[in-house]
Amino acid sequence: MKSSIEIMTKAKPELRSMTLQETIQLTEALGEKKFRGRQVYAWVHRGVKNFDEMTDLSQSFRQKLAQHTVLDNMKCVDALTSSNDQTTKYLFKLNDGNVIESVRMVYRHGVSACLSTQVGCRMGCTFCASTIDGMVRNLSAGEILGQLLEIQNLGGARVSSVVLMGSGEPLDNFDEVTKFIELASSEEGLKLGQRHMTLSTCGIVPGIRALAKKRYQITLAVSLHSAEDAKRSELMPVNRKYPVSEVFKACDEYANETGRRVTYEYALIKGENDREEEALKLAKALKGKLCHVNLIPVNPVAERGYKASSDLSVKRFSELLKRSGIETTVRRELGSDINAACGQLRKSYLDEPEA
Ligand code: SF4
Repeated sequence: MKSSIEIMTKAKPELRSMTLQETIQLTEALGEKKFRGRQVYAWVHRGVKNFDEMTDLSQSFRQKLAQHTVLDNMKCVDALTSSNDQTTKYLFKLNDGNVIESVRMVYRHGVSACLSTQVGCRMGCTFCASTIDGMVRNLSAGEILGQLLEIQNLGGARVSSVVLMGSGEPLDNFDEVTKFIELASSEEGLKLGQRHMTLSTCGIVPGIRALAKKRYQITLAVSLHSAEDAKRSELMPVNRKYPVSEVFKACDEYANETGRRVTYEYALIKGENDREEEALKLAKALKGKLCHVNLIPVNPVAERGYKASSDLSVKRFSELLKRSGIETTVRRELGSDINAACGQLRKSYLDEPEA
């Protein structure tokens, strides 16, 4: 572990990114007893934004922490709540000035948070606003956790489930994302059950395999959107590198290693991938797999000219899958009046001329 001199010469470590063990080591390097590290970790995971809120620590230790570490790593700069449901989209400004978005959704079973894992995204999916300006940088584990803590603070209620489905490709930021999963589920932290976490990927095959080896109990959701290589490559350039058959193989491995059912996300886009033959092809590809299909009538993206499928097409697509024995649900569209789709609020914030 770093000595206190090293701590002073390197960039300040971010407390929200540190495991319990790392927090204890830092505490000891600052000349304090081990149990103080546990207290610091508990305060960080309660979402405090100021060292003065750590009331069971001495004034001098709080000062040392403030001098050598970073606690608060984002500020909410905008929040929009849907008038259709209670979905709220938050725009957070990070300490380096980048902005990211996160969404708070209220369901019958509790509050869910949709978190970003990168600033922007480099995957280039054609239906997604997050990728239009490319990827700026990875988020740290603490910046992913920070979104969750801020949503709890701002919404005044515990978040009981998390989806890594905001801006960014989580498996393109593997180390920080897996660290976040371990932080959020830690016994001394938020104790969020891994079964209440979902990681959504566009289909990075080596990342899916590496995740399978971790044997977490999280749900793996794969954005499929077509079971046919030509169409999928058109919608999602990543398919040129990792074709559908490879994605299915890696997902089967994930299901075998973890015993968890894989979710396939399928955004229905009018005239693009919502025809009967596409539903039949999907049903054939998924037959016999431990899986579940989530159909999502896509939120329109003005820049791309995509429109949501009609209710009738959604119903027909869903029935065809169900008739083939594939468990299928249609995801309720939340917050369609507040640009809730991935990257749309950030995009409109970045495009807004400065006052
Ligand atoms: S859908 Fe996800 S992976 Fe694809 S460009 Fe958008 S953020 Fe990236």
